[in-house]
Amino acid sequence: MGKLAESLAVVPSTNRCRVATIIDTLDVEDRDAFFDACRKVKAASPRDRSAGYPFTEMWLIKALRAQGFTVSKESMSRHMRRECGCEFA
Ligand SMILES: [Zn+2]
Repeated sequence: MGKLAESLAVVPSTNRCRVATIIDTLDVEDRDAFFDACRKVKAASPRDRSAGYPFTEMWLIKALRAQGFTVSKESMSRHMRRECGCEFA
């Protein structure tokens, strides 16, 4: 394959979600744990949230930060609301 053909064979990652770039680096076990955590966060109803439901986006962000992954509240919220367009949403 020619050099240009090689470059053009790569699908461009436009607007790549920050959360997705983190997921990319996780091993299978951590990935499963992360997806499980996402489900817990998403499962909360507004009523749960005001009642002190423990699994919040901030809980997830703090856990990621503790492992050296920096992600903003905005990025996480966009991902959780499926506004990021990434394949993991
Ligand atoms: Zn995303």
